[in-house]
Amino acid sequence: MRHKFVENIPEKLEKEIVYISITYSTVAHLCACGCKNEVFTPLSPTDWKLTFDGESVSLYPSIGNWSFACKSHYWIKNNVVEWSKSWTKKQIDAGRFQDRVDKVEYYSSKSKESKIELKEVEEKYESTPSETSFWSKLKKLFNNA
Ligand SMILES: [Zn+2]
Repeated sequence: MRHKFVENIPEKLEKEIVYISITYSTVAHLCACGCKNEVFTPLSPTDWKLTFDGESVSLYPSIGNWSFACKSHYWIKNNVVEWSKSWTKKQIDAGRFQDRVDKVEYYSSKSKESKIELKEVEEKYESTPSETSFWSKLKKLFNNA
């Protein structure tokens, strides 16, 4: 990345340039993944902080583009993009875990449903002995036929 001190953030951002407007306390750049989404990071005590060491800039905290499809998460440290690999893996794992939970819940509810059906059916015939014998007679008839 390269940094560029500007008065106003230009309408069209160029990739790999970190635009810094001290006047408007804003930093803007195109998402480091290359998806061309514009990332605006306001500078304030509760937002981002910019460090300029005379040669390069760093932004703190990290940039998490959760609202973009790419879900990029990285730091800009001394004009270098540092990807958050561990976070990404964690996210993936969390996603997988949630996926597994959903599947387990889905299938257990399915099997519960079928168990209830089966139980209801069994109870129906168990609670009516005459019917059971009727059914067993019918079964016998059917088997003999
Ligand atoms: Zn992106």
